[in-house]
Amino acid sequence: MTPSEEERPVAQLLVVEDDERIRTSVVRALRERGHVVRTAATAMEGLRTAVEDRPDLVVLDLGLPDMDGGELLRMLRAVSTVPVVVATARDDDDAVVAALDAGADDYVLKPFRADHLEARIRAVLRRARGDADTAPTVVTVGPLTIDLPGRRVTLAGRPVELTPKEFDLLAYLAARPGTVVSKRELLAEVWQLPYGGPDKTVDVHLSWLRRKLGESGGAPRLLQTVRGVGVRLAGPEDDDLEPEP
Ligand code: CA
Repeated sequence: MTPSEEERPVAQLLVVEDDERIRTSVVRALRERGHVVRTAATAMEGLRTAVEDRPDLVVLDLGLPDMDGGELLRMLRAVSTVPVVVATARDDDDAVVAALDAGADDYVLKPFRADHLEARIRAVLRRARGDADTAPTVVTVGPLTIDLPGRRVTLAGRPVELTPKEFDLLAYLAARPGTVVSKRELLAEVWQLPYGGPDKTVDVHLSWLRRKLGESGGAPRLLQTVRGVGVRLAGPEDDDLEPEP
């Protein structure tokens, strides 16, 4: 799949990564895709560069030598709303949840493919730029169409009847397609409830919603649970939803 040039926003990116090999290959891959890339090898350098250079997006390694990446994220959030995609080791669910709760916009697990990271970056940028203009009112993901102001949902052209809470949950995910949202965030934003440890509210509504969308937890396509982290609505980058052109 080769998206056309106009679908490909060239962005100023900051990559904060202490591992030189990873940094070099990520930078090369992102530059090949037309982005302007700066780098930082430590948290403090990353924080300074993020504040001074005002990049469009920061790719942040959570394991940095001088400071935990999550700590850096909290410091950065105190002074900047720059979109952040965190990169972390595969066995690090707690760190991912903490990073999402601290304001990361998305994450990739190491080792990641450069095209996967770039797809995440594009999705986050599109969302950030969309928020700046007007938020989309109709979201289409594969066969699913969600009319946000009209509170109407169709699947392959057929209406789907949802309860108000199911719609609110889907709408919250649809406002950020392709992005993982933690259950803590859903509970806070959709239900206005504080997170109180193990809570089945979100899981139960997700399973009802999934059934109405004609899929099961074992074979998700549109609603994808990321175990230990949260859930995402498939995004436009999920090219398995639609046949290749
Ligand atoms: Ca590292």
